[in-house]
Amino acid sequence: ILQEKKLCEACVFQIYSEPFYSCEQCDFILHQRCANLSRKKRHVCHNQPFMLHTTSGAQKSRCALCDKKFTGFMYKSANHKILDVRCGSISEPFEHESHPHPLYYSEETYKHCSAHGGGLNMNIGMFTCDECDYSLDFECALLPKMVMNHRYDDHPLFLSYGDLYVKGKYWCEACETKVNPRKWFYTCFDCGVVLHVSCLVGDFSYIMPLRVGSITRSNKEV
Ligand SMILES: [Zn+2]
Ligand SMILES: [Zn+2]
Ligand SMILES: [Zn+2]
Ligand SMILES: [Zn+2]
Ligand SMILES: [Zn+2]
Ligand SMILES: [Zn+2]
Repeated sequence: ILQEKKLCEACVFQIYSEPFYSCEQCDFILHQRCANLSRKKRHVCHNQPFMLHTTSGAQKSRCALCDKKFTGFMYKSANHKILDVRCGSISEPFEHESHPHPLYYSEETYKHCSAHGGGLNMNIGMFTCDECDYSLDFECALLPKMVMNHRYDDHPLFLSYGDLYVKGKYWCEACETKVNPRKWFYTCFDCGVVLHVSCLVGDFSYIMPLRVGSITRSNKEV
């Protein structure tokens, strides 16, 4: 069943068709990939060891890389740098299904992001291809491949990497302005709904909504 509100305790993102683990006694639930996150890792952007902390609860932290507030699991370094699990689990080469070649982290920030077509949203470098002129900033590189949002559609909305051969015009279901079909957007394969990336996930938060008892549920064993 596809639900909008079934959130993984680690990455605080929707759980849909991928494999997951859940607790039979409570509503603790994890993506399989989040349950298997490496405990310790050296990060491509901050060359120091990070340890995985599996505390979940209501306390918000700010990610040192994407600058977003989040709850859920985190990677922490000895000098207290904090990364969310999306940013923390990035490694090189970075494979992205939008591009056939592996991408590598680069501190260059003068390049344009091939996904949204503009300059960098954040000044933290980007992922670039060694073989051709292709770069992704962090924001676009980490966009979810699929999002459920019943406000716009009852079907899953998939990230589309743009189509150079589209002749017609696309209109965003949310803001009712044009969508550039050559750039990335979200779409439904069943009914053709199209949404700007920013309209669908622009104010997306990775914060667990408050539930009764959620504050006391910290330090869960996984
Ligand atoms: Zn997860
Ligand atoms: Zn982050
Ligand atoms: Zn390439
Ligand atoms: Zn971008
Ligand atoms: Zn829009
Ligand atoms: Zn649909």
